[in-house]
Amino acid sequence: MAWMLRLVKIGVEGEGPCADIMEIRRPDDLVDIANLGLTLAEAKRLLAGVQREIVAAQARDHAVRRPECPRCDGVCRVKDYRDHVVSTLFGQVTLRLPRFCCAACGGIEAGIAWPSHCRSTPELDRLQAHLCALMTYRTAADVLGQMFPVDAGTHHETLRRHTLKVGESLGECAAIRPETAASAVVVTLDSTFIRSCAEGERHLEVRVGNVETASGGRQVFGAVAKAGTDIEALIRRNLDAVGRTEDTALAAFTDGCPGLRRSLDDAGVTTAPMLDWFHIAMRLQHLKQIADGLSADDPARVAATAVIVEEVERLHWRIWNGKAKDAQVSIDRIRAVMHHFRGEPDQRRSTAPSRKLWTALRALDGYLTSQSAWLVNYAERHRAGLRVGTAITEGTANFLVNRRMNKSQQMRWSRRGADLLLQVRCAVYNGTLGSGFGQKFQPANDPYPPMAIAA
Ligand SMILES: [Zn+2]
Repeated sequence: MAWMLRLVKIGVEGEGPCADIMEIRRPDDLVDIANLGLTLAEAKRLLAGVQREIVAAQARDHAVRRPECPRCDGVCRVKDYRDHVVSTLFGQVTLRLPRFCCAACGGIEAGIAWPSHCRSTPELDRLQAHLCALMTYRTAADVLGQMFPVDAGTHHETLRRHTLKVGESLGECAAIRPETAASAVVVTLDSTFIRSCAEGERHLEVRVGNVETASGGRQVFGAVAKAGTDIEALIRRNLDAVGRTEDTALAAFTDGCPGLRRSLDDAGVTTAPMLDWFHIAMRLQHLKQIADGLSADDPARVAATAVIVEEVERLHWRIWNGKAKDAQVSIDRIRAVMHHFRGEPDQRRSTAPSRKLWTALRALDGYLTSQSAWLVNYAERHRAGLRVGTAITEGTANFLVNRRMNKSQQMRWSRRGADLLLQVRCAVYNGTLGSGFGQKFQPANDPYPPMAIAA
């Protein structure tokens, strides 16, 4: 069996010329299921063929137009022709386009609204950037190569360059304020680290956050410190994008770092930031896990473990209910029974649980003391339907940065490269990475962007 795929142009005068795109051959029987329908290779050839034909017809139509001179309204003539090689999602195409010359004033007119050095379509740029925001440059290049007849720019280095360019263009967009003002906005600011590829520099600090409205509008943002992206400007822009006005009630959460509080303040978020419950809960969770691993090889230790587990529970309850001042009581009670674990041997691959508990306890104690001014009654807020921390359950930092930039220990980043990729990643999650690069920060109304759940 064979088919001929023929493309027929339809104009105002009816059917125009037609072109044979490709012949498709299939065995006569269906003994082998692999013979069912088109193969991927055929589909790619088909798309590339259709693309070439349509582009050629568009170029022919374009060449017979005679644009008006924008300077003197004179009539333009064809001056010469130039070849344009453009990468598209469906293959690389070569267009032969005329340059026009005004008969009256001699001015040169291209007749196209895109720059003549443009080498790819916005749709290809967007898809490349989108994939690179979600997976490594190498994997993205592989996926593109597998799925599409893209025959240019699929080298991972090229993809990286294109993606960073998209990231750069994102920084130039202004916020678009939504029509409805937000009565209340929650801002969360957090920090994390990624590995640096620069010599003599081990880590890069990344600041990430999100803004949320009661109606579910959400934007995420992030910037690598000292990379050129101004985090305060980002916070302001994101607040504007969800409809912040002078009357908006702002609430802020941070992980307790003074630098983050300063950034919020500089961005005009002057309400005292609360300590994000997510960060406290993680520390308590850590403490619980260690307590559960304490050795129970004699009755005294069993009894001591029971006391510790109970006190960790109580500690959790106290902090959650805004009684962090009494946390010291729990910490002291745990310390009082710790002597039962004296001489507990280190395990084969890690230190003894009791020593870990001692360290974690001291860290928590210091944390609660230094952060006491920013602890609130989380239970009360929760009952009132208010946020106690970031809504993205695993923490904005983890979800925005770690999954793409920290997953593998081998991943090392340049300051600028990480920062620009992060801009793309944020735009992907905000649903604002459109092919019209002028309108990035549209108000997000979807409380859970589909991408945020899928990743
Ligand atoms: Zn002219």
